[in-house]
Amino acid sequence: MERLWTPWRYDYITGARQARWAGVPEILNAWPGPPPDAAAANDGAKPGGCVFCNIIAAADYAIAQGMATEDAERAVHLVVRGPTCFLCLNAFPYSTGHVLLVPYRHVESLAALKPEEAQEMIGLAQQVERAVGAVYRPEGMNFGLNLGAAGGAGIAAHLHMHALPRWVGDANFMTVAANTRVLPEGLDRTWAKLRAVWAEQMLPIRTSSARG
Ligand SMILES: [Zn+2]
Repeated sequence: MERLWTPWRYDYITGARQARWAGVPEILNAWPGPPPDAAAANDGAKPGGCVFCNIIAAADYAIAQGMATEDAERAVHLVVRGPTCFLCLNAFPYSTGHVLLVPYRHVESLAALKPEEAQEMIGLAQQVERAVGAVYRPEGMNFGLNLGAAGGAGIAAHLHMHALPRWVGDANFMTVAANTRVLPEGLDRTWAKLRAVWAEQMLPIRTSSARG
């Protein structure tokens, strides 16, 4: 049997993999990626490298192409959009209900936020406290910012605040899992629950982002 040696195919496959943008799910892959001037627009971000910038742009693109807003925003687990900040689920949650509060602007420090962005981030945090409290009835919550790679930020270049519900005795995650204190819940389900709370009780949900 003749052995096939097709390095071009390997390059093609790995190239295709690399062309998929960070954080953008399969269903939104039609998004062509950030425009060439995205680096300048995003204060020096590497185009295509930022999960947060990508998910907003990919969802907006899909909506502009006719995808239902609910479907596009569910795909990236975008819960709510404010004028300067948005709320999404952490794709790798420490616990059910782990959300991220993110300014649209690609800035890496708290000090770089404009006053209105900082104010909205805290306003969203207040809403998260109420919404996550209503849905998950936690005994406490953590709100936290990890600045820079050394500060523990997974996506250091784009500021984001973590918010997650806590229960007494949950510090050891295995203990939590063993006691099924917090039932594992799929991200789509968490998204639907929080989305419903915002629709009923919180800010109106916007259908497109306001950046600039
Ligand atoms: Zn970004």
